[in-house]
Amino acid sequence: MKHSFYLATVALEEWQQKFKHQFEKWFPDPKSPHALSLMLFSFVALIFNATIAVDPISIASCLISAFCCICLLIAFAYGVSLIYITQVGHVVALIHLSVVIWLDHGIYSLGNHWMLVFMVSQYYVVSRRSGFIWLAIVLLTFTVQAWVGYFNPPDTPDIQGVDRATMSLASILLPTIGIFMVPQYFQRLFDQALSLNQKRQRELQDKQRELEHTLLMREHFISTVSHELRTPMNAILGLNTLLHERVKNKPQAQKVLTYTRQSADHLMTVINDVLDYSQFQFGQIKARVERFELQTTVNAAFELFKPRIESTRLKYECHFDSDVPHWVDTDRHRLMQVLVNLLGNAIKFTHRGSVTLRVQVVDQGVEFSVQDTGIGIAPEQQDKIFERFSQADANIQSQYGGSGLGLTISLRLVQMMGGHMKLESKEGQGSRFVFWLPLQAQEMPPTADIIHRQHPQSQSQTYSFLVVDDHPVNRLLAKQVLLREWPGSTVDECDNGVKAVDALQAGQRYDMMLIDMVMPVMDGIEATQIVRRSPDVLVNTMPILGLTANVSEQDLARFQQAGLNGLLLKPFDLERMRAEVAGLLTKTQRH
Ligand code: ADP
Repeated sequence: MKHSFYLATVALEEWQQKFKHQFEKWFPDPKSPHALSLMLFSFVALIFNATIAVDPISIASCLISAFCCICLLIAFAYGVSLIYITQVGHVVALIHLSVVIWLDHGIYSLGNHWMLVFMVSQYYVVSRRSGFIWLAIVLLTFTVQAWVGYFNPPDTPDIQGVDRATMSLASILLPTIGIFMVPQYFQRLFDQALSLNQKRQRELQDKQRELEHTLLMREHFISTVSHELRTPMNAILGLNTLLHERVKNKPQAQKVLTYTRQSADHLMTVINDVLDYSQFQFGQIKARVERFELQTTVNAAFELFKPRIESTRLKYECHFDSDVPHWVDTDRHRLMQVLVNLLGNAIKFTHRGSVTLRVQVVDQGVEFSVQDTGIGIAPEQQDKIFERFSQADANIQSQYGGSGLGLTISLRLVQMMGGHMKLESKEGQGSRFVFWLPLQAQEMPPTADIIHRQHPQSQSQTYSFLVVDDHPVNRLLAKQVLLREWPGSTVDECDNGVKAVDALQAGQRYDMMLIDMVMPVMDGIEATQIVRRSPDVLVNTMPILGLTANVSEQDLARFQQAGLNGLLLKPFDLERMRAEVAGLLTKTQRH
């Protein structure tokens, strides 16, 4: 029963659609149906009048006019224009009405009121100008009738005296003019509203253009600032790591380098938070899903704070349940960012007791919790701390520092990865930040074991590298990492894309090219495209690793599409860079 009702409704809807379509085909001009219904109505009224009229001339006039109506309808069906039909129809109707009114005491006839229909329908169906012309015709007809009626008053008991002619004229003339003024008045109101609306729309469009321009400028500003800040940070952090290894037996120098590193890391966190926050404002941050080992990433975040913990008496523990998936798909970099932020906060706000990171399977996903026995957060502050620039207490800022953006960004990142976050805290006793992500166990990717196995053998091999970067310190850093890992290799340097392309065209061959994205003369995107189009198979299949400080999603996508084999964001972890280079060299087996 329900099904047949559904079928009937669908059939009705289909029929309605078909009819609408056909109707629009028949009447492309939206005024046509109204004009035609007026004609049909006139036809019916004329036939009715013919049946009740007693005067043979009236009957004949009604029938002739009805016949004209039919002819006009047929003409319309054959494609004669609506305006032409309306004009002819009105002339016929005027003649017919004049005959009927003449026979029915002229200006004293009730038939005069039909004249009102002429100008109103002309006004709407044809044009405003036409409406005015027909108003003049109708008024003239009334005046002529009044003139004739004045000299030939009818000899009937209800119409007495010539004065009535003037009164009759007035009583038909004034409503006619009044009725004609109503649409005029509404038209004027409509025109005013329309022009006001158009003015507002223009203003809105101007504002929208202005806003779009500002957004573009801001986007450009963010990407420039990001690039300018990350480029030197890459050199500071990278060289710090290299120096650290060289002064292993000089504790004083190591201490200085550790402090430098901590300050640089802190500066990097602030830079990243501000940039991330402004990118979130524009919805520009999207999850970059990749497959990775969950425990390795969690450990990396956990280990990051070990040096800081050593100077405190805190108990610092990580519990990773055995049933937690090994390989997962999500944004590794962002997961790490959230963990680092929560662990960093927990350590910052805990003076004695413990900080514990726990990872376990909950509700077909993975739950991460960071529990501390620190200062805790007052109940009334607990909702607020996830808001931007918000700190639980005014004293916190002076005592502990911080931008108040970390939790806002962490919450949004967790939501972006499809999860949720909550907080349990008791003032003076500690806090527990918990977030859940929908992570499922995944297969191990085929390239993973290659990268893992590569490291021990790599030292014995030598390669030829081409490093393309406009920043000399970054070239130095890349060179140091490559030579440390593959001693005896050759590393050539270029400071822009043109020089790199020229070197390759001159016959130089490399096992790998490491190229920066933003450079003067020719950027990394264009240079990569040219290399990929080269007819020489040794050039166009050469592995290319992109290095960039730019974080704009569109620019990164363009760089990837130019033909990169891998991409590293500056400031990059030296170990990650080594693993990435080793992985690409092994995959392509060029040596
Ligand atoms: P900030 O970068 O200033 O630390 P967050 O957004 O990370 O900003 O944190 C906001 C505020 O939340 C902090 O200033 C602090 O008042 C409170 N808070 C965050 N984590 C903890 C914690 N583990 N224990 C106590 N208070 C915390």
